[in-house]
Amino acid sequence: MTSAATRGKRSATAATSERRVLDWQLATIAKIREETPRVRSYTLRLPNWTPHRPGQHYDLRLTAADGYSVQRSYSIASGPEREGEIEVTVERVTDGEVSPFLHDVAVVGDRIEVRGPIGGYFVWNAALGGPLLLIAGGSGIVPLMAMLRHRAATAPRPPTRLLYSSRTHEDIIYADELRDVAARGDGLEVIHTLTRSQPPGWTGYARRIDDQMLTEVRRPLGNAPLVFICGPTPLVEAAANGLVRIGVPAQRIRTERFGPSGK
Ligand SMILES: Cc1cc2nc3c(=O)[nH]c(=O)nc-3n(C[C@H](O)[C@H](O)[C@H](O)COP(=O)(O)OP(=O)(O)OC[C@H]3O[C@@H](n4cnc5c(N)ncnc54)[C@H](O)[C@@H]3O)c2cc1C
Repeated sequence: MTSAATRGKRSATAATSERRVLDWQLATIAKIREETPRVRSYTLRLPNWTPHRPGQHYDLRLTAADGYSVQRSYSIASGPEREGEIEVTVERVTDGEVSPFLHDVAVVGDRIEVRGPIGGYFVWNAALGGPLLLIAGGSGIVPLMAMLRHRAATAPRPPTRLLYSSRTHEDIIYADELRDVAARGDGLEVIHTLTRSQPPGWTGYARRIDDQMLTEVRRPLGNAPLVFICGPTPLVEAAANGLVRIGVPAQRIRTERFGPSGK
């Protein structure tokens, strides 16, 4: 039997652990991998690692010697199955503050302040089921990759389609891994669109996301897939509005915007 005292103790413990995970901690950069000419992935080893839900993010904080401090959010790219560390994937924003620092200055062994995992709406785990429609633009693929990595590590795996919009072929992040997971034949299909240029013999889409494309990509999943859309604001709005126009219930659509951060 659970006494009131025990219940009180449990909720106090839950509150303490929630506070602890949101405290800043010093992560160590354990590995840096080039994904594309403008994008790198960073493996961060965490002294206070806690399992995340795919789709959540961490805040990273940089502090200069004079005390000036700046922080930005970065989605977790890795699945929760990777204990003790997370991976984040960062696109270099020309004239930005944090992303150029990570690209040009940070090296393996450096320590960096982080807190998380943060976010409870744009999340998916196996218990939520499917079918799943994932739509990404550019680095918006990052939280969706966490979902795909988690999906690959669990069962049952819902039928899933990823529509991924990139500028050019060389801008496709995680290109090899996406090709490999799609080749497993476990119900995942990856569909690319390249908006600026296409390599010779390209058979994917070659334009911005529109209603016709959404109709074709959604069709095999039925009328009401669970949808996650992430990327720059214009892409997120075009995709979400288009899906509602073609009949996907709005309450099945979750979005995350990677717009410019307020300073
Ligand atoms: C929940 C969440 C998760 C995020 N996850 C990721 C992630 O996984 N990977 C990732 O690379 N980014 C991610 N971002 C964006 C990230 O937080 C920063 O905004 C981005 O790295 C730019 O920061 P900065 O300090 O380099 O540039 P800033 O100093 O913030 O901006 C410099 C200039 O670039 C413009 N700018 C800022 N951000 C962008 C952008 N995204 N695209 C185009 N122009 C921009 C600004 O308007 C400004 O003119 C996420 C944002 C949110 C809110």
